[in-house]
Formats: sequence, C-alpha cells, structure tokens
Amino acid sequence: MSNYQTETKLTQIGNGFDQLGAVNIPIYLSTAYRHQGIGISKGYDYIRTGNPTRSVLEKAIAEIEGGQEGFACSSGMSAIQLVFSLFSSGDHIIASRDLYGGTYRLFEILAKQVHLSFTYWDGESVEELAADIRPETKALFIETPTNPLMHEVDISELSYITKKNHLLLIVDNTFYTPVLQKPIAEGADLVVYSATKYLAGHNDVLAGLVVSNSEKVTERLRVYHNSCGAVLDPFDSWLLIRGLKTLALRMRQHQENAGRLAAWLGKQLFVTKVLYPGKGGMVSFELTKKAYIEPFLKALHLITFAESLGGVESLITYPATQTHADIPEALRLKYGLSDRLLRLSAGIEHPDDLIADLDQAFRSLQKGAAVHG
Ligand code: PLP
Repeated sequence: MSNYQTETKLTQIGNGFDQLGAVNIPIYLSTAYRHQGIGISKGYDYIRTGNPTRSVLEKAIAEIEGGQEGFACSSGMSAIQLVFSLFSSGDHIIASRDLYGGTYRLFEILAKQVHLSFTYWDGESVEELAADIRPETKALFIETPTNPLMHEVDISELSYITKKNHLLLIVDNTFYTPVLQKPIAEGADLVVYSATKYLAGHNDVLAGLVVSNSEKVTERLRVYHNSCGAVLDPFDSWLLIRGLKTLALRMRQHQENAGRLAAWLGKQLFVTKVLYPGKGGMVSFELTKKAYIEPFLKALHLITFAESLGGVESLITYPATQTHADIPEALRLKYGLSDRLLRLSAGIEHPDDLIADLDQAFRSLQKGAAVHG
C-alpha cells in the first residue's frame, strides 16, 4: 500500500486482510483467544491488548500519516490523555492558546493533579514561543487550525524549534485530517485526532487516534494504551474504518461547501467577521450582537444547533456555552473568543440549501430587529 495515494489507502483499508477473501474487514467481537500451549499465541490474546479489527485501523492510520504506529482510543480525549501519559510531575508543556475547551479542561486537571505546568501560546510570534521554552519543557501541543478561531501555524517552522530544543511536537489534526494536512511529513512527532469528527464522519461514533513517529515514545504509548484500557471497541473500530473509506470524498464536499458559505457569510449585514482559512470544512463567524445568537439558532431549519463537527450533516455550535464553556469567560474574551461567535461545520448537503437556510434565519432576525427597533 505504501506507494498509493492517500485516497487509495483510505478506500482500501481492510481489503485483503480476511483469509476467506471478504473485501470488508470482519468485526472480531471475541474478547479472548485460544492458546495452543503456554507462551504460544497467534498474535491476539485479550481484547484490550489487541483486536484484529482495531489492528487494521491502527496500521492503516499509521501508514496514511507516515508514522510508526497507530493507537485507537475510546475518544479524542482519551487519545490526548494517552499522549499526556508520557509526562510526569514538574514537566512543562507549551500549548496553543486557542484550543478545544475539553482539551483545556484536561490540561487544567493535569496541572492540579499531576503538577504539569502549561504556557499558552497565541500562535503569532515564533520568537515568543522560543522564549517560553525552559529546561523542564517537554512538548509543544498545537491545534492547526485552532478550534474555533481557525488560526493556522506552520508545522515545519515549529518542528525546527522543537527538534532544536528536544521537545515533542504534538499536533491535533482533527480539523484538517490527513487528506488536507500530514503533520508527521512536516516534522511532528505525534498526531492526535478526535476521530469522532471527520474521520468517522457520520455523527455516530466516539473515537480517538494517536499516531507516533518517535522511537523514544512508541513503546511507552503501547504499554499505557493497554494498561489504562481506554481502547476503541471492535464495532466502533469497524465503523471508523467504514467512515475513513469515504473521507477524501467527503472532505472535498465539506471544503467546497465551507468555501461557499464563508464567501456568502462575508456579505451579510448581521455578520461582522468570518474566520475561514481557505481550507477544510469549518467556518466561524461573529454576529453583530450577542442578543441575535439565540433567535438566529432557533430560526435555522436545516442546519442543526448541536455540539460537534465533521459529520455529513451540517451542525452549528455556540462555543461560549458549549464546546468552550470550561474556559474562563475573561480569558476567552481576552484572546478573541467572543460571545457573538458561532462555529459552523459545513456538511455535505447541497450548498444552495445551506445558504437558503442561513438566509431565511438572517431574514427572521431582520424582521425581529424591525419590530423591536
Ligand atoms: N480535539 C478537538 C480539536 C476537538 O474538537 C475535540 C472535540 O470536539 C476533541 C479533541 C475531543 O474529542 P472527543 O470528543 O472525541 O473526545
């Protein structure tokens, strides 16, 4: 498979694995495996340690990312937790300032309970980042683009700094996926995913993935993955494989729709700012007033007000009270995550229908504004 393009690798996951020739990988539900004798194993012993359906997924994501080994976890958060098992009390981590709120919440817990310390970097000045590095700094954790402010950073430029300072570079690639961005090729050591989002793609699977490209840490991750047990179950592994097969195709439509929506939103009277990096399926935008947020969300018919992203159905999220509610208000406002911001995950519906839905919601705001003055 190594010579094929990403689209081909994704589509062909699992094909050729089954000895009977099944094109689609079987779901191995068995928790235990028969041993022919003491110390004799066919490679699988107990489901937490290894499962054939999960192994196909893990090998595939490692190959697609160009990494050494993949780990399938029970959620995106457990994937991040797996990576953070590498650090111990006193270690210092630099992380993107704008981050998924649940990641920030985990970091706060780790700071209190495990005494890791965190410095948040706004993604602007590389000199500032270099100045934040201390002898006890162990890693740089970034989202690019960030959730929800869509700020991008140059992974190659950062990898130059992290390599020079012997830090691990960890990239949460949930928003762009390996179809649009391959962090390991740009110098990252570890890639993490909320596979719940684009990779699974159908708003029906909770999953996380880690890909390691660092000899130093792969074995430790393998041991912790088995020891803590937050592994992905066989059925969800199978669903995730099924989702991955169409990832490239879906990303094309997500991106096309997001591009259309971003351009259209930029021309609307009620919109003060549109954040779209020109790639991917996520668009954030600000309304003119906080008071418009609720009526606008209520007026949408096709786009669902819900707390996730990356699925075939378009979803819209209000980060201030949903995904980023755990970030203290003053802090969030200071770095630019306002109470007027909405985050739209463009699905794969026809873009004209999505625009028509947004348009009728804006018109209803206009009517309301005319009535209330
Ligand atoms: N990383 C990012 C960028 C996310 O958006 C999320 C969830 O929204 C996570 C990690 C956590 O993933 P999960 O919800 O699958 O645990």
